[in-house]
Amino acid sequence: MPPSANSTEQQKYTGHLDSLSPQQQEALEKFRQEIKQEGIFDGKRHDDACLLRFLRARKFDLVKTKKMFGDCEKWRKEFGVDELVATFDYKERDEVMKYYPRYYHKTDKDGRPIYIEEIGKVDVKALYEITTVERQIQNLVVEYERLADVRLPSCSEKNGRLIETSCTILDLKGVSLRSFSNVFGFVKQASNIGQNYYPERMGKFYIINAPMLFSTVWGLVKPLLDEVTAAKIVILGSKYQSTLLENIPAESLPVAFGGKCKCEGGCQLSDAGPWNGSGVINGYVTNGSAKH
Ligand SMILES: [Zn+2]
Repeated sequence: MPPSANSTEQQKYTGHLDSLSPQQQEALEKFRQEIKQEGIFDGKRHDDACLLRFLRARKFDLVKTKKMFGDCEKWRKEFGVDELVATFDYKERDEVMKYYPRYYHKTDKDGRPIYIEEIGKVDVKALYEITTVERQIQNLVVEYERLADVRLPSCSEKNGRLIETSCTILDLKGVSLRSFSNVFGFVKQASNIGQNYYPERMGKFYIINAPMLFSTVWGLVKPLLDEVTAAKIVILGSKYQSTLLENIPAESLPVAFGGKCKCEGGCQLSDAGPWNGSGVINGYVTNGSAKH
């Protein structure tokens, strides 16, 4: 779709499966056809919902979308994503949770999996005594795959509609310039992987316990960002609880963040959510789109 077509008329379409303009539908068909011809289409992974995530990430510009998609497929091969998912044994998980807590925990009011990262608690010295940057990146990729293959399908099943995104809470409590600069390399690599290879997975992004300066800078940067993306990001100081609870049921939010959840053995380790113990449904099919 050329930029000139991006009129008010176009803006009522979100570019999701149930909200495509005729031009977007046409771009989707063309995109699928072209990657099939190029032999990089995988019927199992590339359903329409997946192709649309790439198209939306590049504003339905077919040339840019194909470049992004091709780069992603190339990276998947080089990184060995499929083998990694089949073999990765994250035996240091419980230990890592003490020094850099990152975990999925239940769902928000829209049925999205909640992902919590407590970056302020990071203890780099202790962390890298029990794991490596490489293994942390590998775990990140395995988790992205698990999100697509297990967590989101079970959330979709539970809600009876397609859930494609997650709700992230990034807690900056206790973060210092020093602790942040120590994990900056990892955070940068991690966000590159997210942006380039797992597009359109962010449904809501809360940054809590943000220092005043952070909020000020965000106020300046926000108008420069893509409107749709900017609207998903909420920056909050230390009084974040009531805002979180607008979108997250108290039962789903750990007590530490103002909710009511106290999982046995701790919310960090429980992996509580529809994906756990419900029997895994691989490949939630929507509109029969996975059949292509
Ligand atoms: Zn819990």
